[in-house]
Amino acid sequence: MLWGVLSDIHSNLEALEAAVDRLASQGAEGWLCCGDIVGYGAEPNPVLDRLRGLKNIQAVRGNHDLAVLGRMDIAWFNEAARAAVEYTQSTITAENLAWLKELPPRVDAPTFTLVHGSPRNPAEEYLVTVQQFHDNCSYFKTSPCFVGHSHLPMAFLMSEPVSYVDHGPLTPGQVIPIPEHTRIVINPGSVGQPRDHEPRASCGLYDDGARTFTLNRVKYDVDAVQKKIRSAGLPEFLALRLAYGQ
Ligand code: ZN
Repeated sequence: MLWGVLSDIHSNLEALEAAVDRLASQGAEGWLCCGDIVGYGAEPNPVLDRLRGLKNIQAVRGNHDLAVLGRMDIAWFNEAARAAVEYTQSTITAENLAWLKELPPRVDAPTFTLVHGSPRNPAEEYLVTVQQFHDNCSYFKTSPCFVGHSHLPMAFLMSEPVSYVDHGPLTPGQVIPIPEHTRIVINPGSVGQPRDHEPRASCGLYDDGARTFTLNRVKYDVDAVQKKIRSAGLPEFLALRLAYGQ
């Protein structure tokens, strides 16, 4: 089966539509979402409506989703992130809030694991170093383990029994083979707020039969999203950063 892999959508409808269109055209029949569906952007409800309508969707909650639910202390969030949480809380529908509430912290499926930050600490850890990858390997059973949170498309792969780790950022069109009996963590990057200095939406296609993952970058209408962020009264920084992929 082909899965579209999405993470960190952050209430950016244009980016989500572009990613879904691209991955559907490549044959995606199911969808995996690593959380942070809301926060930062101006359209939490249209994004949640669209995501909930996707066939075979499996999703986990992120720290911004938890913040909107009032289940995470936002004292450490920066001012802009906090403003977006408050905006989301004031606009989200009861139905979408109820759906968000039901999201699990992780999904352990036969052909993949799904978390937001890391398998060891799904809500908070940014898994970005080889040491962290090593430390997290005993916390998931099925590979690939898809993570989000850092907004950086990257992969870590360890062949067993040799514990050599291959790792690095993922480039558009790059195909990662996922041999059986390897430990692999893949971050598909962020759909709605990429931070690798590349503004295009980041997402991936996972083929659980051929065991490959392909990274995609998709252009979307950044101008339109910036206008919506400004007219929602959200901080200017949240609009500006989208153009720079930061
Ligand atoms: Zn995020």
